[in-house]
Parts: sequence; C-alpha cells; structure tokens
Amino acid sequence: MSPIAKTFKSLFLIELLRGLSLTGRYFFKRKFTLRYPEEKTPLSPRFRGLHALRRYPNGEERCIACKLCEVVCPALAITIESAPREDGTRRTTRYDIDLTKCIFCGFCEESCPVDSIVETHIFEYHGENRGDLYMTKDKLLAIGDKYEKEIAERREMDAPYR
Ligand code: SF4
Ligand code: SF4
Repeated sequence: MSPIAKTFKSLFLIELLRGLSLTGRYFFKRKFTLRYPEEKTPLSPRFRGLHALRRYPNGEERCIACKLCEVVCPALAITIESAPREDGTRRTTRYDIDLTKCIFCGFCEESCPVDSIVETHIFEYHGENRGDLYMTKDKLLAIGDKYEKEIAERREMDAPYR
C-alpha cells in the first residue's frame, strides 16, 4: 500500500468504520448463543445423561439381576452383586455405577430386558467430593423414583428409534 493510501485510510478512520459496519450487521442478525442456564437448547429424546434405576408402578424394582448391563459395559463401570429373596426371586444386593469411568455409550440401557437401567435427560449434576459420582443402588433408585414420569414419557418418544 502506498504511503498516500495509508495516510488517507488513517485520516478517515476507514478500518474503524469497516469494523463498526461489520459489528452493526451482526448486531441485528439472529443470535446463536443462549443465556444458559436461564435458556436451554432442546435435547434429543435419545440424549444420554445421568443413570437411573426404575421400578414398576407397584413399587417393585424392575431389575432382575441378570447382569447383562455389567457384562456389556465397555468401561467396566458397573458392579452388581445379587442374591435370591425369600420369595424365590433374584434381586441385586449391590448395583453400583462409577460415573468417572462411564462413557455414556448407552449399552447398559440397550441391553436391559426389563427397562430397568436407563439414562435420563439430566446433565446438570456434579461431584464435589471423591465418591460423589459413584452411584450406588439407593442413589440410582432415588433418581428413578424422582424422574419416573419424565423417563416414561421420553421412552415413549424414543420408542420408534429403538
Ligand atoms: S453408559 Fe456405557 S459406559 Fe456407562 S455404565 Fe452404561 S454401558 Fe457402561
Ligand atoms: S439393570 Fe437390567 S440388564 Fe442390568 S442386571 Fe438389572 S435387569 Fe439385568
């Protein structure tokens, strides 16, 4: 660029005006950013978030301790122990998921024959202490109890894709 053109540009603030016009153009365009957490993006019905163990409407645990989820888990994040109950049915005595190992692949959910272990739409959770993300059977059942209505609705929506 010649020295005259350079002087002309700096004298009339050409670069600054170019920048301002670009800013002005985007100022009135549709925004792609959201004000999280007040605003949220839509979630796919197949989104895989925090795990939950479900019960039947009569309160009975769905899980029959078949251990398919434990076997299929590629991250070895699930630990199950089981024992027969007095009524002869088999139930888990321990069902743990270590979320620090989990890769949220959804294999456990897909393998479960009784829709017991599911991945919910919940993604806003965290752990502050070691062990907070180690989900025990009680914790998983509590999540299932709390969100059962939404879990059931989402599974209905997801049904055509399964
Ligand atoms: S989502 Fe995948 S990695 Fe996580 S517990 Fe289930 S099977 Fe294992
Ligand atoms: S959660 Fe499902 S797949 Fe896993 S042990 Fe229980 S019944 Fe079997």
